[in-house]
Amino acid sequence: MTTDAALRRALIDTCRAMNASGINQGTSGNASARLDAQRFLITPSGRDYDTMKPADLPVMALDGRWSGPYRPSTEWRFHRDIFAARPDVGAIVHAHSSFATALACLRLDVPSFHYMVAVAGGDSIRCAPYATFGTQALSDHALAALEGRKACLLANHGLIATGATPQKALALAIEVETLCGMYLRARAVDEPTRLSNAEMTRVIEQFRTYGTPDFPDRELRHVATLATRRR
Ligand code: 13P
Ligand code: ZN
Repeated sequence: MTTDAALRRALIDTCRAMNASGINQGTSGNASARLDAQRFLITPSGRDYDTMKPADLPVMALDGRWSGPYRPSTEWRFHRDIFAARPDVGAIVHAHSSFATALACLRLDVPSFHYMVAVAGGDSIRCAPYATFGTQALSDHALAALEGRKACLLANHGLIATGATPQKALALAIEVETLCGMYLRARAVDEPTRLSNAEMTRVIEQFRTYGTPDFPDRELRHVATLATRRR
């Protein structure tokens, strides 16, 4: 089981990795991790990730109460509302990454132009309508855009990615940013061909076992050793 101390460390490491990866800058963005059914850790508002200490992270309850030395992120509402609505979510990353934000300024969803779009849970990654940062309206829009999805874009703002752990939420944020970069580049030449609903359904099904021994492949045979045959 992940302890409170380990989760605090993981959250700060994830924020530093988020900025080091180039998908976020300065004190923009924020991140959170679920402690239990009622409580979560969240990054404090407007504070540098490089100097952030584990004890600096506020703890919040789903009813809006919080404790800690610094005020929680201004985006605590969408972190709270996602944890309340989505028991499958263990962590949330919000970033102002360049390509996702460029697409979100055009208020475009990411369509099924690449099979990897399915990593976000469906055949598109939606762009939530614009609302001022930190507002309940932004949280309501984000929650609707995340329906049946693990990630979404926020119009004229950035992206949200969720996962079982902070590391997994960040990995998805980086994947979404990469997809947005590909889509923007392809779209600058022409509107890319979209994969069909049937194909995206097949990919989503394949992702259920991708990276595990259960991934179906009838032609692949596992043997004990693979010695080279003498001629
Ligand atoms: P906070 O520093 O309050 O988390 O705000 C950053 C941000 O990205 C707001 O959308
Ligand atoms: Zn933001």
